[in-house]
Amino acid sequence: MQVFRHADEMRAWSLSRKCAGKRVGFVPTMGALHEGHLSLMRAAVRENDVAVASIFVNPAQFAPNEDLDAYPRTFDSDLEMSQEAGIHAIYAPTASAMYPEGYSTYVNVDRVSEGLCSRTRPHFFRGVATVVVKLFNAVLPDRAYFGQKDAQQYAVIKRMAQDLDMGIEIIEMPIIREPDGLAMSSRNQYLGPEDRQRALCLSESLFRALDALEAGERSVDKIVRMVRDGMKDVDIDYVEIVDAETMQPVNEINRTVLLAVAAQVGPARLIDNIKFAPPEATAAQ
Ligand code: AMP
Repeated sequence: MQVFRHADEMRAWSLSRKCAGKRVGFVPTMGALHEGHLSLMRAAVRENDVAVASIFVNPAQFAPNEDLDAYPRTFDSDLEMSQEAGIHAIYAPTASAMYPEGYSTYVNVDRVSEGLCSRTRPHFFRGVATVVVKLFNAVLPDRAYFGQKDAQQYAVIKRMAQDLDMGIEIIEMPIIREPDGLAMSSRNQYLGPEDRQRALCLSESLFRALDALEAGERSVDKIVRMVRDGMKDVDIDYVEIVDAETMQPVNEINRTVLLAVAAQVGPARLIDNIKFAPPEATAAQ
């Protein structure tokens, strides 16, 4: 497995593979790898001729008061885990190479970036979209893999790739969870034992809501109230049901929807979600 620090070296490597007719799969990450990341990497390896992962903690998606400095960095073990997953090349640029003095270009994806996480993190999706374009320009992937864990991020990147004619297939992979249901996240490392226990109410409330939806409940208000009641012990940022593609709030559950939650649990801001496609809507299509 090769490790590249510079965009031109990364691009030269990918170009030579592409010229040989090989398809390049790509998994962008911020490192501190866990099974969630590895599931994306394994899919990229399985479904493409060569697979690249990036490890870059992107300053542009953190606000000054957020956890950029505290964000876990475990580069050596990340390399080992990536290699074991079958990754052929790692792109790990430095922050100063990505955003040198005078850097001025940012990508905004309207509408789908609004609401949910951007209400408390207004800078976030502009930072994500910008870094993903820069990473795509270095890696030149045919396919890129994102986790449903960050469902709004996936929707933003998918919209952007389509709008900007990038010709890159954007693939969403399921959320990988701990055995007790907690969605895996690099930020789970911030949780002490009590907060770790309290954090379970996110996934537990979502699963209860999914049971209700599957049993036929279609009231947005009732589902949101049910989830909020289940999350009384944590500091809720939002509980919302939105269209799974546009991220716009819905009044009726009559198409594929995303039920998304975010909460501060002790030192960690955690997010989780489920998607639900009402069988009656699928049958009507
Ligand atoms: P991050 O390093 O947190 O930026 O995440 C890199 C990629 O891994 C993103 O596409 C995430 O959605 C994905 N990811 C993070 N956690 C999980 C998880 N528990 N299950 C599946 N994918 C995940």
